[in-house]
Amino acid sequence: MPHVHTAELMDGTALARRVLAETADRAATLTRRTGVAPCLATVLVGEDPASVTYVRMKRARCAKVGITSRHVPLPATTTTAQLVETIEGLSRDPDVHGILLQHPAGPGIDERAAFEAIAPEKDVDGVTTHSFAAMSFGLPGFVSCTPGGIMRLLDAYDVDLAGKRAVVVGRSAILGRPVGMLLLARDATVTYCHSRTEDLSSVVREADVLVAAVGRPRLIRGQDIRPGAVVVDAGYNAGNVGDIDAEGALGRASLITPVPGGVGPMTIAVLLSQTVDAATAQLGLVP
Ligand code: NAP
Repeated sequence: MPHVHTAELMDGTALARRVLAETADRAATLTRRTGVAPCLATVLVGEDPASVTYVRMKRARCAKVGITSRHVPLPATTTTAQLVETIEGLSRDPDVHGILLQHPAGPGIDERAAFEAIAPEKDVDGVTTHSFAAMSFGLPGFVSCTPGGIMRLLDAYDVDLAGKRAVVVGRSAILGRPVGMLLLARDATVTYCHSRTEDLSSVVREADVLVAAVGRPRLIRGQDIRPGAVVVDAGYNAGNVGDIDAEGALGRASLITPVPGGVGPMTIAVLLSQTVDAATAQLGLVP
């Protein structure tokens, strides 16, 4: 029988479990030493079912690792000014160490203005312009969670990035743009693609490292994956389908993230890890 190449899977579920175990240890130590448990405030505007589920998942994980969560549900009729005021209040509240505003904040809300009301030292989701700039310049601060999770996965599998051609498909503020900055900081040669990119296939074919962050089922065809490429599929579409044709890519990539069980679990793990970092700094302990 001829040998059929199959990519190795990057197991985000297993790595997230390790990150969460380490986060739980650090949370327990902090609580023992200060008498205060780390606290994440979760702000949810409206009742979008997917957002409700995401916030519930995040709070359940908090409870599992010894992080207190304070849920702040707001009605769909909330104005930008009211949301900003609520977040400013949480930014000032010494009992809250991290703030998560669930995205999307809803139609009619200026989400950027709301994000900017998060104090940088509590921006554990890495969504403020301050955090983005600090991350891009390699200064201390919090990274966007999904990009941070992707980098931890690449590191766990010893992916060499220096000098490699990295192609990021998608340029959103929370995913494509920051992951490109993190890859650049590791000396990859980064190309961004987006909805206006001409001949996406030919750019994708150049990628030693490919990150798909679009939200379109199987947008990227297996035949466009460069043989031996490292493939990260951050896309999540209905029916557990990613942005990459996984079947086609498996026969060509060297490493690939499964959907689900790849990037997804890492996002929450980084959020909670950064919440403990924030609490540690605010409670005056040396990490
Ligand atoms: P988004 O804000 O909708 O951004 C999508 C990006 O894809 C945009 O930059 C857009 O380009 C680009 N795009 C759209 N159509 C394209 C096409 N035909 N060819 C090339 N680029 C195209 O989405 P997002 O929030 O970044 O999320 C992207 C995906 O990641 C979604 O499936 C989402 O569910 C998933 N996600 C997963 C996690 C996780 O934890 N696993 C977290 C966040 C998001 P323009 O900028 O030109 O419009």
